[in-house]
Amino acid sequence: MKSAVSLPPVRGKLIAQASLAPYTWFRVGGPADWLFLPADADDLADFLTQLDPVIPVTVLGVGSNVIVRDGGIEGVVVRLMGKAWGKVEAEDGISLSAGAGALDLSVAKTAAENGIKGLEFLSGIPGSLGGATRTNAGCYGKELRDVLVSLQGIRRDGTRVIYRGPARPGALPEAHFSYRHTDLPDDLIVTRLLLEGNDTGAPADILADIEALQKRRSETQPIREKTSGSTFANPDPPGTPNQRSAWKLIDAAGCRGLRVGGAQVSELHCNFLINTGDATAADLETLGETVRARVLDHSGVQLRWEVRRIGRPA
Ligand SMILES: Cc1cc2nc3c(=O)[nH]c(=O)nc-3n(C[C@H](O)[C@H](O)[C@H](O)COP(=O)(O)OP(=O)(O)OC[C@H]3O[C@@H](n4cnc5c(N)ncnc54)[C@H](O)[C@@H]3O)c2cc1C
Repeated sequence: MKSAVSLPPVRGKLIAQASLAPYTWFRVGGPADWLFLPADADDLADFLTQLDPVIPVTVLGVGSNVIVRDGGIEGVVVRLMGKAWGKVEAEDGISLSAGAGALDLSVAKTAAENGIKGLEFLSGIPGSLGGATRTNAGCYGKELRDVLVSLQGIRRDGTRVIYRGPARPGALPEAHFSYRHTDLPDDLIVTRLLLEGNDTGAPADILADIEALQKRRSETQPIREKTSGSTFANPDPPGTPNQRSAWKLIDAAGCRGLRVGGAQVSELHCNFLINTGDATAADLETLGETVRARVLDHSGVQLRWEVRRIGRPA
């Protein structure tokens, strides 16, 4: 799509042919035809209302669960960056509201500082709340859906919508989630969330729990690498008796350390792929497909990509 096409006026930033690699954890991928950094929810809604419906729109969080392909992304890529999107505020009791651009870690820490327990698990997820909602992110036995009271969002045509969290009372439509998945409309950009903890506690104790979770994580996962976390979903959801895990299947198929170009299966946690320096998105995707084929051959299990692969091949 040519960047000469005229787009609606905005108050935020609209950048043609913006490289997306710096916006992803893997640091790979081609440009967006346009990158839109809306100033606030009104700016986003106005833009979407006026945008030609044939132009595709894709939303990116902080890119910790995506491979942007080498040919980049057609149309407009929206990223919720800056103060208006990252604000986190404690509300009455044990609830907290936050913009969808807020980092999960900052939500967990703000909750802790305000004596709200039950959101510590978010500190283990290096994404934004918008990404956590789309992926129903979770760890240590908790998922986003467990703490979601309600969410606000904007559809591709600029319509604003509100959903209530699973099993929360009220007349609003209910958001449905399953393992690393939500049934929210594909074109929904989540803009704001209301979350709830499950108890109160001493801030220092909750912050200490967060620190302990982070220490444990850094010892078992290559969190300082260019990666995007678990590449494949576990074949069985949490709680399944004798749950099969993707990393064990990958290890058993002899893929630990396997390389394609600059992409490698992590030696530390073999469900993580790593850009060792000069990987392309194609290297990462080919490596992932090689792993899937070897696991299928070895154990008969068809692994499902958890990392989202978006955009055009080179
Ligand atoms: C080291 C490491 C460890 C990880 N550990 C975990 C873990 O323990 N548990 C876990 O669940 N995940 C984990 N992940 C994966 C990742 O952090 C989560 O999936 C995270 O929720 C993605 O958020 P993001 O902001 O990076 O989203 P992105 O990767 O940018 O996008 C992911 C998806 O969310 C959509 N999206 C983003 N923002 C919005 C929005 N505002 N509205 C609607 N859709 C949106 C995107 O379109 C895309 O489909 C890990 C990743 C890394 C790198």
